[in-house]
Amino acid sequence: MSENCSHDCSNCSEECASRGIIKEKSNEKSNIKKVIGVISGKGGVGKSFVTSILAVTAMKNGHKTAILDADITGPSIPKLFGVTEKSYSPDGKFLLPVNSKEGIKVMSVNLLLENDTDPVVWRGPIIAGTVKQFWTDVAWGDVDYMFVDMPPGTGDVPLTVFQSLPVDGIVIVSTPQELVTMIVEKAVKMAEMMNIPILGIVENMSYYKCPKCGEKLYVFGKSNVEKTAEKYGIKNFIQIPIDPKVAEYADKGLTETIETDYLQDFFKSIK
Ligand code: ADP
Repeated sequence: MSENCSHDCSNCSEECASRGIIKEKSNEKSNIKKVIGVISGKGGVGKSFVTSILAVTAMKNGHKTAILDADITGPSIPKLFGVTEKSYSPDGKFLLPVNSKEGIKVMSVNLLLENDTDPVVWRGPIIAGTVKQFWTDVAWGDVDYMFVDMPPGTGDVPLTVFQSLPVDGIVIVSTPQELVTMIVEKAVKMAEMMNIPILGIVENMSYYKCPKCGEKLYVFGKSNVEKTAEKYGIKNFIQIPIDPKVAEYADKGLTETIETDYLQDFFKSIK
């Protein structure tokens, strides 16, 4: 801890006891101020989409932003941003992240594979080791907010990630039918065990707004994010509607052009 420590970790990139357990050291060419993990109980709930739009919101607020794609077996971040360039190492000692069109720094296993359809058939420890290397061996440069797209669930890999990366807080992504407290309860307990604050809950695909009459249709069942957040004392939550444009924009790699103004207050409350 520096002599001048203000105990406000959001303005400091030092890795010290005040920030939690001393974890893996980031690369010497990295200066990362805040790390936010985005987790979900299971795949397909929109965790990568939410990671991306949170990063876009941070970027639009003038912050230097990065995404570490820790979802090694299902990496979707490069595709969402239309990033096709590969990561490379100028001297064999460190890797460079790849910039999105608007300047979000991205590292993902797909930026290292020859073909992005090549499957990653690795065992848990190798996968966790790769995520660690994305932290230790990537020269991220100056980053105000790094969002980590975590693998789904509370298994081996997310556990290792929480133990090795200095995650400042997590955002839980769920959908109405899944948000039956059990999944959130597991995530809350895991976060407590790891001593990591829960910054907020995102209920994705919460409803569909009829374009003709504006009525909100709860396609996956009534929202219960508010009740769940209250039960666990989580102050920040948001409902994101089903938007048919999301899949279309994602397929075209145009996530940065998606309207994200509605996330402004949520982002400010978790930052
Ligand atoms: P996960 O990371 O949890 O596996 P993804 O972010 O890959 O989930 O999203 C799964 C699919 O759902 C993708 O095809 C994505 O485009 C779509 N999707 C996610 N959120 C929404 C939304 N709010 N409206 C419409 N489609 C969505």
